[in-house]
Amino acid sequence: MAKKKIQAECKIDQDDYPTLESILSKIDALSPDTPSFDLLIPDRMTFRGRPIWREFQAVILDRLLSKGLVPVERKERAKGKFFKFGRVTIDPSTLRTEPPPIDPVERVPALGPLAKNTTRLHPRRAFFPDLAASKLGGTFLWPRSEPWPRCDDPRHQTIRRQRRLLTDGICPLLVGVVQLNARDFPEIPFRRGADLLQLLWCPAPEAVHDDAYFPKLFAYWRNSKKVNDPLSAHPLPDYVDGMFNYFPVSCQFFPETVKEFPGPAALYELPEDNEIHKVRETDEDFWSLYQFELSTCPGTKLGGHPCWSQGDDAPVCDCGREMEFLLQLFDWEYTNTDDHQRWIPLADRWALKKWRKNPAAEAALRPPYFEFGHTAYYFFICPKCRERPVRFVHQR
Ligand SMILES: [Zn+2]
Ligand SMILES: [Zn+2]
Repeated sequence: MAKKKIQAECKIDQDDYPTLESILSKIDALSPDTPSFDLLIPDRMTFRGRPIWREFQAVILDRLLSKGLVPVERKERAKGKFFKFGRVTIDPSTLRTEPPPIDPVERVPALGPLAKNTTRLHPRRAFFPDLAASKLGGTFLWPRSEPWPRCDDPRHQTIRRQRRLLTDGICPLLVGVVQLNARDFPEIPFRRGADLLQLLWCPAPEAVHDDAYFPKLFAYWRNSKKVNDPLSAHPLPDYVDGMFNYFPVSCQFFPETVKEFPGPAALYELPEDNEIHKVRETDEDFWSLYQFELSTCPGTKLGGHPCWSQGDDAPVCDCGREMEFLLQLFDWEYTNTDDHQRWIPLADRWALKKWRKNPAAEAALRPPYFEFGHTAYYFFICPKCRERPVRFVHQR
């Protein structure tokens, strides 16, 4: 009897929650030139009849972005977060890195041959209709004839915690993370016949895929000229994580090429008599500057040297060769922002003190609205294997 009563109460409560579907259709009904919009994103909602928390917030932000609307104000309310949305324009010329305060090669000539160029991608929230464009999140060029993929890991349907199936027994629909087009980034070793690299992942970091709490990566290589009847939009995700967020809000790239040098972890392997070691031991000021402002750039970037937060951890391909660094994806673009700000474009620095309360500031520092706990994913590729395997490494 008591059990029945509880069930009935739950049902009543759940029926009172707004549905995600109704919020999204309200957004869809907005005219494309709506100048502003107010919305309470509730803490509790239902989606496809199941109760959900705030975890689908990124899906709502992404849908509003398709109308050109971004959050400009945010206030906590008893039942959720109240947002004011408006329109902002991005000035790409402000997304530029300051020159280094000193030339590291002048101080340590042995660094010269270790320099590499990286392409900072400077993602910024934007919705744009070009399906084949290079982008973070957003809609990928995907043939309608190819069903949108789900995770292939059968453990979604078998692993339980406290009697509950992790991910509710769903093999989640994959989430589009990054699409790279050869016309923008010819330096990527594309698979033969392909001009698009599409990286998707299963957005469930719970202990399904491995012992570690990571999403699972799926790389697709595609020839854009062969896609004649593309999907106009991806299906909505049917699972997102409650603690972290692996569903990106659509971002456009504003690439910039910057010179960088290996991070400290990669230098430890140099021979003991290398000049760099001597400088490290004797010139504390230079070494500190080197680590934080001269060596590797944090944030989302293509190629160059990985900005490891721990030791060097490049994976080895099944063919036995060390894989090549392809892409770095941070949730928050910048780390260690207290004393060292060279990698933060001047125009973004205002956001450092404002992001806790100002969603526009937060968007400058955390463009895709990812949340991995202030950490990074490092993607690697084997340019020697015909299949061009791609793998990621995660560091906290
Ligand atoms: Zn999965
Ligand atoms: Zn290989």
